[in-house]
Amino acid sequence: MVLRLENLRKSSDQLDSLNIMFGSIARKVSKKFLKLKNMELHIGCDLAENDHAEEWRHLAHVGHLKNKICTVWDFLKIPSKYQEAIIWHEYGHVIDGKAVLNNPPKHISKYVEKKANNLIQKHFGLNIMYDKNYHYLQYISRGKKP
Ligand SMILES: [Zn+2]
Ligand SMILES: [Zn+2]
Repeated sequence: MVLRLENLRKSSDQLDSLNIMFGSIARKVSKKFLKLKNMELHIGCDLAENDHAEEWRHLAHVGHLKNKICTVWDFLKIPSKYQEAIIWHEYGHVIDGKAVLNNPPKHISKYVEKKANNLIQKHFGLNIMYDKNYHYLQYISRGKKP
């Protein structure tokens, strides 16, 4: 990663906020799923970076490295509400117990995607939606389920 000096502070602040957010989600998940207590966020996974280069909205995956949710450096740049929902979504896949790499397979079934979100709704009461105005990234709807 190459950073310009003036961006260094900003990036490290972004990294701090992301780590705090991840820690908070990880604690909630660990309370219900003790065996997931060792999960970590891995930023800058090569496989994820390659996939993200092909398809921008592919920002994270699971099942690649043990006990890790992999993300790309661009993940630091998206608004935190999407970061939050994507982390929850990936935990949904982890709880589902299936490896979900974007590439391969090229297409993850809608069923698997929906199942990850449904598991988060079921266990944590959070509704994960897709923002058609922002790359179809996930966000948490705080309103009631449509
Ligand atoms: Zn990875
Ligand atoms: Zn997914």
